[in-house]
Amino acid sequence: MTNRGTIFSGMRPTGRLHIGNYLGALTNWVDLQADYDCIYCAVDVHALTTLDSPEDVRAIRPNIREMVLDWLAAGLDPERSIIFVQSQVPEVLTLHTLLSMVTPLGWLMRVPTFKEKVRQMSETEESVNYGLVGYPVLQTADIILYKANAVPVGEDQLPHLELAREIVRRFNNMFGPTFPEPQAKLTEVPMIRGLDGQQKMSKSLDNHIDIAFTPEETVKRVRTAFTDPQRTKRDIPGRPDICNVYSLHKIFNPGDVDTVHEECTTAARGCVDCKMHLAEGINRSLEGLRERRRELEARPGYVDDVLEEGARKAKAIGRETIAEVMGKMGL
Ligand code: SF4
Repeated sequence: MTNRGTIFSGMRPTGRLHIGNYLGALTNWVDLQADYDCIYCAVDVHALTTLDSPEDVRAIRPNIREMVLDWLAAGLDPERSIIFVQSQVPEVLTLHTLLSMVTPLGWLMRVPTFKEKVRQMSETEESVNYGLVGYPVLQTADIILYKANAVPVGEDQLPHLELAREIVRRFNNMFGPTFPEPQAKLTEVPMIRGLDGQQKMSKSLDNHIDIAFTPEETVKRVRTAFTDPQRTKRDIPGRPDICNVYSLHKIFNPGDVDTVHEECTTAARGCVDCKMHLAEGINRSLEGLRERRRELEARPGYVDDVLEEGARKAKAIGRETIAEVMGKMGL
């Protein structure tokens, strides 16, 4: 690692990424490589905190592979960044346990996302697993094992990072200066709505468009997009400002936005044609990425080699940190 500053970020392995993940996080990760030493991690242990079934467990490994293929195709560069799987560097689990000795339970219970997760899972605070309560401690361990100085976050993740900083301060006060306090690298995360036109794009809501879809799959999915509900007939003028297809044109067909607006509000274009136009824009924008993905997929063992090399580099840093931490904690 150099002294350019180190960025850490992770993603839960949910399989192929959709355009919301791509525009909200991955393109930023790619850009950060120009200015920072970057460490990017598929956080498979985090995935275990909310598993529902044995199928979920069996899906973890294939999901990692699909997600990492998207990362590499989008431009994450294993020559410049460390790319690895969380569980392949078990030093993070040691650090998680050690940090849990300096983290008051009250700090964890008040994290807004904890309460939200409990609600989503229809559980009570008493019945959720211990791992879910400790999730922010494991996240802190992920970041500071590599002594990262900055973490790219959206506004909604700020409370988690603040908690990581509190844990670091407490550790440093008790055992002497050891970890840098990770800073938030605030990134504007565009809110990409799904095909339902209402909610954030998400696999679990089945309103997504995968970046690795074929052009034909993309067309098929975009055809299902909700548009202006008042436009029940082709000759009724539309309201592009409330239509998510129009929002997506702004991203994928930026040069055509004025025309789309004009033709929609004068009923000169129908929604079917408008959606085809959008699908063409998405397919054009992702053509290069998809081509690279196919090439990488065809290289036997490539993803495994990248992850193995990433784990080797991450482990070397992690081992040093654990030796230092254990020494300071009198172990
Ligand atoms: S023409 Fe396009 S922008 Fe207008 S309502 Fe239909 S899909 Fe939406």
